[in-house]
Amino acid sequence: MLISKNSNHMRKMPDYAPATQEGVPSMSHFQDSFETNATGVRVRFERGVRHEIASEIARLGCSRALVLATPQQADTAMELTSFVNGHAAGVFTKAAMHTPIEVTQEAVEHTRHVEADCLVAIGGGSTTGLGKAIALQTDLPQIVIPTTYAGSEATAILGQTENGVKTTVTNAKVLPEVILYDVDLIAGLPVDMTVTSGLNAMAHAAEALYAKNRNPVSSALAVEGIRAFINALPRVREKPEDLQARGETLYGAWLCGTVLGQVGMALHHKLCHTLGGSFDMPHAQTHAVVLPHAIAFNAKAASDALSPMASILGDVKNPGTALYDFAKKLDAPMTLAELGMKEGDLHRAAELAVKNPYWNPQPFQKSDIHALLENAFAGERPAG
Ligand code: NAD
Repeated sequence: MLISKNSNHMRKMPDYAPATQEGVPSMSHFQDSFETNATGVRVRFERGVRHEIASEIARLGCSRALVLATPQQADTAMELTSFVNGHAAGVFTKAAMHTPIEVTQEAVEHTRHVEADCLVAIGGGSTTGLGKAIALQTDLPQIVIPTTYAGSEATAILGQTENGVKTTVTNAKVLPEVILYDVDLIAGLPVDMTVTSGLNAMAHAAEALYAKNRNPVSSALAVEGIRAFINALPRVREKPEDLQARGETLYGAWLCGTVLGQVGMALHHKLCHTLGGSFDMPHAQTHAVVLPHAIAFNAKAASDALSPMASILGDVKNPGTALYDFAKKLDAPMTLAELGMKEGDLHRAAELAVKNPYWNPQPFQKSDIHALLENAFAGERPAG
């Protein structure tokens, strides 16, 4: 029986591969013990579903929706208000990356001033984050219409920044009530952002595969999410207007976001959180660069858990190395240097990343993290 050494709450892990019938491929995620909490989030996945926003607002018993967006997506927010059919309380278009607390305060005052009774966030993780932050203070119901693959809409997690420090809150109040996935909105996501946002989503699923508290359903969702991106992301890169491929990536984003909300993340997310929170590195791009290195580092300790991903990537020895090749073919950013990281900050980043011990399948020292970050800084292909 394997017991995790790093765990505060020692937890029994299955010590066997599921038995399989002869001739049936062994892809089962069965575990002999697990816990999970199902959520009652309403999800609609349909091209053009944004046009039905008025009925979704009414279904919540609401009639005064505040529509949220970033300044860059103000036009998208305005278009949406035209479908709200007199149920709009207003538009607030100041959402910003990492949910600065000052923006939230202004938005909460505005929400109260216009007497909104629900929130509609249309955009990426930054806009969803603003909706969650308002909901935390007001308990208003939220409808999210995602336009990136970040996956925040499917989690009860809120990350926010105050005086340059990023903190995370997990609270059922911030979990949106309704998610509307409309492929028309993702079709306009610029291709470079499509690639980095897709790799960001895959990172949730990759770490969910070896999460200490994974369960059979989270593993099945993670595998299907990874499969969707590996199958469809290259097709979107090739032909960004391919709605079939776009739809498959959006489906993958939902699956990957759902597992992010269900299980704990490890080294990869901790590194990206540190780089984003303390060095102001861009969210999705940083995930894209770090992912192959973090997975390559964890691959030996978690080879069984990662094996479905290795097999989707072509029966590879190390899925981290294969992810590096996948990202390179997609023309993703490959170095932290090109994202603006300073080489002189790598040491401090490693120090911060090991500060609060957290569970990871592969135990590590600061020197391991420093070496990993040096590789990611330079874009070296991780060793298999
Ligand atoms: P983002 O929301 O900041 O979007 C980046 C930029 O792209 C913005 O200017 C946005 O307006 C624009 N954009 C978004 N969709 C577009 C589209 N379809 N077409 C054109 N432009 C578009 O970036 P993101 O990567 O989606 O989200 C990052 C933020 O989300 C971070 O703050 C991160 O911490 C947070 N996040 C939180 C969770 C969670 O569970 N709490 C999960 C994932 C991400």
